[in-house]
Amino acid sequence: MIKYPTNLVEYYYFCVEQFKNSMEHYNYLAFAMPAFFLFVFLEYKAAQRKKKPELFKYESSISNVSIGIAERLINLFVAATFYQIYYWVYDNFAIFNIPNNWMIWVGLILATDFVWYWYHRLGHEVNIFWAAHIVHHHSEEFNFTAAARITTIQAIIRTGFWCLLPLAGFHPNLVITMLLVHGSYSFFTHTQIIERVKWLEYVFITPSLHGVHHASDEKYLDKNYGDMFVFWDKMFGTFQVEEEHPKYGLTHPLKSYSFLWMHFHYYFEIYESYKRADGFKGKWNAVFGSPANMDQDIRPELEKKFLQDRSLKLNQLRFKGYLAFQIAMCTIMLMWFTYFYANHNLADKLFTLAFILITLINCGALLEQRKWIYYLEYGRLFLIFTYVLYLQGQTKYLFVPVMLMVISEQSFSLGKRYQQYVLQTK
Ligand SMILES: [Zn+2]
Ligand SMILES: [Zn+2]
Repeated sequence: MIKYPTNLVEYYYFCVEQFKNSMEHYNYLAFAMPAFFLFVFLEYKAAQRKKKPELFKYESSISNVSIGIAERLINLFVAATFYQIYYWVYDNFAIFNIPNNWMIWVGLILATDFVWYWYHRLGHEVNIFWAAHIVHHHSEEFNFTAAARITTIQAIIRTGFWCLLPLAGFHPNLVITMLLVHGSYSFFTHTQIIERVKWLEYVFITPSLHGVHHASDEKYLDKNYGDMFVFWDKMFGTFQVEEEHPKYGLTHPLKSYSFLWMHFHYYFEIYESYKRADGFKGKWNAVFGSPANMDQDIRPELEKKFLQDRSLKLNQLRFKGYLAFQIAMCTIMLMWFTYFYANHNLADKLFTLAFILITLINCGALLEQRKWIYYLEYGRLFLIFTYVLYLQGQTKYLFVPVMLMVISEQSFSLGKRYQQYVLQTK
């Protein structure tokens, strides 16, 4: 029997329950993607009107968006687990019995922002956490697309921190709602279009203050970790207002758009530094020490080893349309996939996951004009054929597309043409 609400708080829980029931069939987070692109488009237009086209750079926008797509995609597979963990912590370990009245929202928003402050600060102060968070700071452009630069690994670490909220006694339904609000707020602090409003900086983290956090200038380093409120930064001595215009990005910028390298380079650096360290303390510091003490020679050495054939001629990108098309295709697929997520079977899910991830790796490789993309293109075609044949129950005919692919490669030297027209290497 349905229990109907008798007061406002019960009414809220009732709505959440109803919403959750419909969520079992459709995932409304799908609409976050068109909303994101709408805001990026508006920001882009505003940048043009203000005669600041340099706020956007084609390569870095593509790179930022492709990382965001991967996170949204993989998140679909793990989000349900995140929620279950919150319920499990709440049901078994909740410390306080927090009474249900409007004050709970004030307490929750402050608690959420406080946990965020420490999650974010440790993300900068501990190597193993920085390995995930560094990806957010790669971007040398500071605009809405930079807000999308979050990885699934970071989402997993963050979930660990968010567990403190149900542990304190906040109901998971409230926590999940608050995380949506809190997460949306930080999207809007990644822009240079919104003018600085100084009096707001007494209370809120503004785009200008978060821009300082993204800067590599000496005096701006390790400042403004807060997400919504400035109290914590003021309280713990990490507050800094914008004085000179910031130079955005890392102190030692990553010189690569490779999708995989961007995600994992710092883990390799930790591993290398761990190998080189002597004794327990050295090894401990390689993993849990401060990124400020990381040996700065390691990255260039690793880049030489893993990215040796790099020849960046980005100003000659003639395949911009092809890249943009792939990103658009991924976005539309991801939207459709998200909305109907609960209705897909395992094969659909695995195919979509593999297809989108290969495409994103492809986009990064295109930006770097890697010769091996051609094989990746083949891999993707093969995946499509396999999936279509699987849907028809005809996987025994898989040899047909394989043969066609080999024959066309042999008779039309497609590889060479691809190099010429898409990569434009002579
Ligand atoms: Zn940060
Ligand atoms: Zn940021």
